[in-house]
Amino acid sequence: MNTVGHFINGSTTEAAERTQDVFNPATGTVSKQVAIAGKATVEEAVAAAQEAYKSWRNTQPAKRARIMFKFRQLLEDNAEKICALIGEEHGKISHDAMGELTRGIDNVEFACGAPQMLKGEHSRNVGPDIDSWSEMQPLGVVAGITPFNFPAMVPLWMFPLAIVCGNTFVLKPSERDPSCSLLLAQLLQEAGLPDGVFNVVNGDKVAVDTLLTDPRVEAVSFVGSTPIAEYVYATATAHGKRCQALGGAKNHAIIMPDADMDNAVAALTGAAFGSSGERCMALSVAVCVGDEAADRFIDKMSTAMQDLKVGAYSDSSNDFGPVITEAHMNKVNGYIASAAEQGATIVVDGRNPKVAGFENGFFVGGTLIDNVKAGMACYEEEIFGPVLLVVRADSMEQAMQMINDHEYGNGTCIFTRDGEAARYFSDNILVGMVGINVPLPVPVAYHSFGGWKRSLFGDLGTYGPDGVRFYTKRKTITQRWPSSGVREGAQFSFPSN
Ligand code: NAD
Repeated sequence: MNTVGHFINGSTTEAAERTQDVFNPATGTVSKQVAIAGKATVEEAVAAAQEAYKSWRNTQPAKRARIMFKFRQLLEDNAEKICALIGEEHGKISHDAMGELTRGIDNVEFACGAPQMLKGEHSRNVGPDIDSWSEMQPLGVVAGITPFNFPAMVPLWMFPLAIVCGNTFVLKPSERDPSCSLLLAQLLQEAGLPDGVFNVVNGDKVAVDTLLTDPRVEAVSFVGSTPIAEYVYATATAHGKRCQALGGAKNHAIIMPDADMDNAVAALTGAAFGSSGERCMALSVAVCVGDEAADRFIDKMSTAMQDLKVGAYSDSSNDFGPVITEAHMNKVNGYIASAAEQGATIVVDGRNPKVAGFENGFFVGGTLIDNVKAGMACYEEEIFGPVLLVVRADSMEQAMQMINDHEYGNGTCIFTRDGEAARYFSDNILVGMVGINVPLPVPVAYHSFGGWKRSLFGDLGTYGPDGVRFYTKRKTITQRWPSSGVREGAQFSFPSN
């Protein structure tokens, strides 16, 4: 059986201290093995990155960017192959995989502008014959640790920008869908990236812990669940590293009584069930203001859900695919069961759907649950499945209070025709990414992505301007070239101009 290895110093290696099964979630069968790196393999990758840094940090930014231009083209040329790999290991439908790849490519395009972004700032005559400038220098070896749900896009949030800023990179992708990262590494090499600048180690906690504690790693970018994000942030910073750790989410949509209900239902159908709800920006809670709005919403939503098509990635007429593992399928089903036990109403039950030809796949169908209340497990925790909860609120204030009280603050949205209400909402909601009649307000590549509260540990979000700040450190140089003949004695008061 094929074993997915690592990519270290320009070579694919199958060194496997241990291996783990990789499943095809649509069939429920093991399709390959993935090598699980031990400490020594990770240290080899870090050493390769450290060695490559010596010359990469001095490579002209325009040359680094030129490699990204080629990489961008290669991503387009190989898009079908990349999406098929994502489909086989993650299970998302080909159109959804293409959407993820396209958003990833947007980040490569942003990285192509590095020479402009790294120009720094210059001030002439800050004192007599004194000029001053700030430059943005690379950090050194940077690590990226990524989740299963976007095997192409999330790594592409990180390494193109880190690399064009002059850093070298070690990526530890999710062991559940490991192949995509290796293909990205090969394409980067084909684009002309020198060996050692980008390395991939597959693995689990052992690999992560090695990266978090190795003194040669200067910074860590993490995306994944909140408990692991918190652990990664605490461990990396305790070891003196810069760290940004993006965590989980529970994204609410407020449905106001004046909302265009057909648009809101269409938007929520895609945002709640797309990618089986396995998106950190999935809208998983609809908070309807008033019973009349809630009844209309549920009536229209349950009708729309009759058309949902769940199935394998290869049939692009499907709306969404399986969840990632059997254990995760059982967990999602468990949340649905617990909702009923705790007093909520299951309106559409997606457990155990029949998918012809894929009877052993890890499928959960679209599920709609009404009368959900704060305190229920299905409300407090991230389900990460195709489950939409409906909460009934008496007022917009009460709906907003629920969102502000929730531990997560990644994304949110309001559906309304009232501009004043929308403005009040965006001003006062404690969430990092806000949509107004836009269900998935994922910032474009030239803004930055990041939630509030326990959805992000660290000061800077990922990609865009925050990404440039994260992957560089400012050095400010003050320089004096006195005019000939000018002499100055010792000055004991603090220099001022
Ligand atoms: P996860 O936290 O289980 O895994 C993320 C990474 O951490 C993987 O590379 C994994 O190997 C590693 N890891 C897992 N357990 C570890 C441990 N005990 N010690 C050290 N490393 C460990 O997350 P996942 O299930 O792969 O992804 C889904 C989660 O990611 C969801 O919570 C989702 O909301 C979140 N997510 C967040 C964003 C965001 O931008 N905020 C984006 C995508 C996904």
